[in-house]
Amino acid sequence: MASSQRVALKPGDTIGILGGGQLGRMLALAAARLGLKAQVFSPDPDSPAFDVVQNATCAEYADVEALELFASDVGVITYEFENVPSSTAMILAARRPVLPDPAVLETTQDRLAEKDFVTKLGIGTARYADVASASGLKAAIARIGLPAVLKTRRFGYDGKGQVVVREGDNPDTVWADLETRSAILEAFVPFEREISVIAARSASGEVVCYDVTENEHRDHILKFSHAPARIPDDLATQARAIAEKIAAALDYVGVLAVEMFVVPGDNGPSLLVNEIAPRVHNSGHWTLDGASVSQFEQHIRAIAGWPLAHPLRHGDVTMTNLIGDDILDYGQWLAVPGATVHLYGKGAPRPGRKMGHVTEVKPASK
Ligand code: AMP
Repeated sequence: MASSQRVALKPGDTIGILGGGQLGRMLALAAARLGLKAQVFSPDPDSPAFDVVQNATCAEYADVEALELFASDVGVITYEFENVPSSTAMILAARRPVLPDPAVLETTQDRLAEKDFVTKLGIGTARYADVASASGLKAAIARIGLPAVLKTRRFGYDGKGQVVVREGDNPDTVWADLETRSAILEAFVPFEREISVIAARSASGEVVCYDVTENEHRDHILKFSHAPARIPDDLATQARAIAEKIAAALDYVGVLAVEMFVVPGDNGPSLLVNEIAPRVHNSGHWTLDGASVSQFEQHIRAIAGWPLAHPLRHGDVTMTNLIGDDILDYGQWLAVPGATVHLYGKGAPRPGRKMGHVTEVKPASK
């Protein structure tokens, strides 16, 4: 069954979600609000998403029998993480529509393919070079210059699998320490701020973007998102147009996030795309309380074949991630007037683990 086959779910139908983390949990909750059921597939028995659904499949992503049974239970399948193994996606896509189409993952799972794709669309990125050896790194440094960021092509997230290369570093040691066979070297971008666009695209090709979000990281992990981003209106329009172009070029169905750098320049700031996330995204969590329809509901609408919403923003929104031990302050957050607290029901806090988030909405400045 082709993934592109039109899906038209009815209330009461079931959506299959691959992945049982907080994103899967919030997708399942959004589905429930629309009268849809969700079945979650995850190998981890402690998956936070299992807590909010009646039907769960706890099995490995390579378990063909479990995947076939899962597919037979649901009307459409989606995923909450981008590293879905291609063999898993193929088994599922042969039985049920998988949205967004897993072909998208071939582009977004590989930083080199992603950068090539964005560049072919005429959209700016940091200058980059393919690196497959220590001598390749030396050649790339000669081309790109320093400082630069060396990133593994695959399986990087939250700053993992990347290192800043500076003048004086020994390329042989840098290469050996990254413990990979394929990487890219990116020019270090002296950005003014980081932003993201959360865009939804329907099967009929309509794209709806949220207001641009401004993101602040701590130790490479998202800490705060602010909506709207503090950027000029014309730059915000450009950012949304970039996300729209990417979504259309991928023939995407669902919600995706495009992370960008705002770079200062003599003729005003410009944009470089850093990364595409083919899923709902942490920088869109503010939409749960700060907009009339959240990114999670938009994604469910898109993959169910339902009309997209045109969400209204309720004000100036700040989202604060509760990372690791931050969760221990949940009692204080519960007491903050106007704050909405989301806890993901995860077990023990670990450094860098996303445990929850808080949204605060203030009257809109624009
Ligand atoms: P990534 O995993 O590519 O999203 O990178 C994580 C974070 O590292 C980004 O949000 C930036 O703060 C920083 N970063 C990544 N690439 C670059 C770059 N080329 N120049 C400067 N900072 C970067």
